[in-house]
Amino acid sequence: MEFKQWWNFRTNQSLWSRFFLAKYCQRSHPILKKWDTGQSQAWKNLTVNRKEAGQYIHWRLHSGEISFRWDNWLGTSPLANQTNGGGKPATPLLLYENLEHKKPVKWSFCLWRALRNKLPTDDRVVSFGQPTVTRCVCCVRPQGESIDHIFSKGHFARIVWKKFSGIAGPHTDDLSLRQLLIKWWLMKANNAVHKLLLDTTPVIICWNHWKNKCGAKYGNMSSSITRVLFAIHSDILPLLKTSYPQIQWPPNWIDIYILAENVKHITTTTQVEWVKPEAQFVKVNCDGSALTNPGKIIAGVIVRDHHSQFIHTITSPFGTGTNNLAETNAATIGVNWCIENGFTRIHLEVDLTILVHWVSNSSKPPWNIQMQLQQLQHLCQQCEEIRCAHTFRKANCPADSLSKLSHDLPRLNHFNSMLDLPSHIRCQIILDQMCTPSFRNSRNANIIGGNPMCGISIFDAHSIGIPPMYQ
Ligand SMILES: [Zn+2]
Repeated sequence: MEFKQWWNFRTNQSLWSRFFLAKYCQRSHPILKKWDTGQSQAWKNLTVNRKEAGQYIHWRLHSGEISFRWDNWLGTSPLANQTNGGGKPATPLLLYENLEHKKPVKWSFCLWRALRNKLPTDDRVVSFGQPTVTRCVCCVRPQGESIDHIFSKGHFARIVWKKFSGIAGPHTDDLSLRQLLIKWWLMKANNAVHKLLLDTTPVIICWNHWKNKCGAKYGNMSSSITRVLFAIHSDILPLLKTSYPQIQWPPNWIDIYILAENVKHITTTTQVEWVKPEAQFVKVNCDGSALTNPGKIIAGVIVRDHHSQFIHTITSPFGTGTNNLAETNAATIGVNWCIENGFTRIHLEVDLTILVHWVSNSSKPPWNIQMQLQQLQHLCQQCEEIRCAHTFRKANCPADSLSKLSHDLPRLNHFNSMLDLPSHIRCQIILDQMCTPSFRNSRNANIIGGNPMCGISIFDAHSIGIPPMYQ
């Protein structure tokens, strides 16, 4: 009974619910409001089971009536439950997630502040009119302290960058922080591991420069290159070990870099082909494409029978959206056309694996395509029989080409005859009829590591030529 009351209270705009809202929830959300002594028994009964009842209330998106933070519009739990006390996401967007101490947010935030000149350096303090002696704490011969001095142009900073840029390639002397980062980030990566290293090393170096500066200025540590190099190394190594645990990572920077540059992704080749549907079924091949993600989205659909004969094609632009939305819309117009034309036994093939899971409810779709997906599921329920399966893009060539073709078309187009289609799509349809196989090369996440060169340890300050005053 209390469950139903809570449901009515949250979902109905009755006089009774408005009264309770006005009396008890003027300044806080009903989910948060606690029962206090002296408040009515009816309100107490309402709040007793609200947590359990709330799990079964799902909110319809786009209605404009839900609370972004407190209502369960995600389907899993309210957004507020997925954050910790300070309002920060419990799983922040990290450069990588599995490292302890959640350092990367600090790294990125520190660099972001440095790039926007928002760090409390001496030159900034001076700019506020405060009489301050600007004198860096990093170098042996102190100079004026500024962002560029601490992070890139100072004597101390240059030595550190040189240690890491030497093998990586970019010449970093006399560059501002911004130019230096651009140089690192514009370097061409040979593989995913190399890219990770090129992307994150400058961030880690900057973070450790800042730590060194703060330690020397506000703590009781002296500026030390050996310590900074060790700290940078201690940050890079766990990052690589967490991201690529299958590789034996060597203990020093030069070997790490050479290894990362030379690892190879394993490429597998698979034979794939379009297979005609069973008797009584039509096969609907769909594909959606987005010029950018999100961007202008287009859908292509081709319908063929169990003799591999062409029945119909549709191409349609759908405004702007994500790639997922393009794929969902493509499937929707395909199934919709079949139902309208009396084909109720459908074998739907899409090249987005996750869409198959979304249609079968085995996975939760992103909130922004939930409405479109509900429409597709509703159409699926109208079919006598529907099978939704994944196919590789190489076995879905006509639909793929159709979705790209419609980038030039202003509106939805139907093609009832193969002769109306461009020659390359006609050719792909004929190849499918002849069961001509294609070969799919996939570069998977697995990598083969090379043998690292044996090199000196980064901790051996003498052998890498750190000036004695900084050791
Ligand atoms: Zn300095």
